[in-house]
Amino acid sequence: MVASAQQAVFCATQPDAAVLPILPSRLAGSNTTTAPVLEGAAVASIPSGCASNQNVRVNIHYIQRDNGSGNFGENNDGRPGTPSTAINGYDYAVNLIWACNGNWDQNPAMTLPAGNTTTPLAKRVRLTLNGVYFHRNTSLQPFAVGMNPTAYLVDAANTINIFICGAPPSNPANLSSLPAGSFNGGQASQVTTATTVTAPFANIANGTNPLWTTIQGTWNGYILNNQQPWQMASVVNHEIGHLLGLNHTWYTVPGRGYVDCADAPSNANCWNLNAPAGSNCNDPSKLSNNLMDYTACQCALSVCQVGRVQFNLNGCLQRFVASCDPCIPSGLSLRMPASTCGGVTGIWLDGRGSFIDNAYDLTIQQLDARYNVISTFTTTRWRRIGREQLDALTVFQPFSRYRVQVTTRPGCATMLNDSKTLYFSTGMDGPDCMVPGPSRAGVTNPSFVQPSSAR
Ligand SMILES: [Zn+2]
Repeated sequence: MVASAQQAVFCATQPDAAVLPILPSRLAGSNTTTAPVLEGAAVASIPSGCASNQNVRVNIHYIQRDNGSGNFGENNDGRPGTPSTAINGYDYAVNLIWACNGNWDQNPAMTLPAGNTTTPLAKRVRLTLNGVYFHRNTSLQPFAVGMNPTAYLVDAANTINIFICGAPPSNPANLSSLPAGSFNGGQASQVTTATTVTAPFANIANGTNPLWTTIQGTWNGYILNNQQPWQMASVVNHEIGHLLGLNHTWYTVPGRGYVDCADAPSNANCWNLNAPAGSNCNDPSKLSNNLMDYTACQCALSVCQVGRVQFNLNGCLQRFVASCDPCIPSGLSLRMPASTCGGVTGIWLDGRGSFIDNAYDLTIQQLDARYNVISTFTTTRWRRIGREQLDALTVFQPFSRYRVQVTTRPGCATMLNDSKTLYFSTGMDGPDCMVPGPSRAGVTNPSFVQPSSAR
């Protein structure tokens, strides 16, 4: 079964997709404009025959309206009127990815075909969060089929980008109006909407095409119904299933009756018993529980589907795999300004987009003009990284250059750690320290401002 699926997978090479630029507003975490070296995470060696879990890199993006409303925020939940700081977009993203992994952990048997006795294979996909990003764009905030957020892709060559959009408002004239009813959904890049196809079409980003998905209803459900991350997990995993090469099981190829796998047969795509009403969905034997259907339990994959995904992740999609390991690797997402604009207090490192960093080592080094180390401060923190006030840990000198390195500590035996290095100065050399001065003969001159007004 698996072998036939492998032969069916379409991995032809297409011309390289354009590599989209990363917007400056999202570069703060990796600002190395003054740094001689950029140290990235360790690159794992991925065995082509990996038979363990494939840990797939994902980024989470929230698209807010231009005024910052309509989604989770960096510091609160974005609730209209009275936002709560008990949960923010970083927290929700971490919890969502954990919930998705909980869904991948489930291993139920297929309910179809009726009377199926196949022993299910363990799903071998797990997700590791690489970064969390926030964007303000009113035109892209409401989900729409065919929407294109690719200007915001980050590390598109190696990471699946997940865009959390708002559900379209019930009153298009009032963007703040909330939708009613069921609105969880999504769309995967690379997938067409034809239900009768002549060739596999969830064609898994042939060549170097990026993989990304748009998800709707996440925030709206949280605001309206206190919807929790586990209630969104199957929607996200369904879209990732598409990106990894799976089609809807109810889609058919003429004369065959299924698209991907004979053991994931076409069906009436019932949400649940008698939903919708009618003879197609009036008996439990007609109900699918497959992840790639629209069902109340998007939780099962057939043996062939597991093999197809595993095959792709061992081959043409290997670039998205962080590691082949039962342990999910940690991920660091660090941000801080390139300069304090002369200040030596209020120096914050923001690591809130990081993933499963239950402990980490932090090293702060003062450097001379040639990047030689003048002094070193090191500490180990036995907790998840958040916003860390560095000047509460060590004393900074004005007009000096510093290097900050964070390395996670593995939480289980074979887990990869992650390490990232940032550079900043306590001088006036950051782009945030300058504002346009008065225009003279049409020429705008930059001028220095005090740190207090630079923020
Ligand atoms: Zn789908």
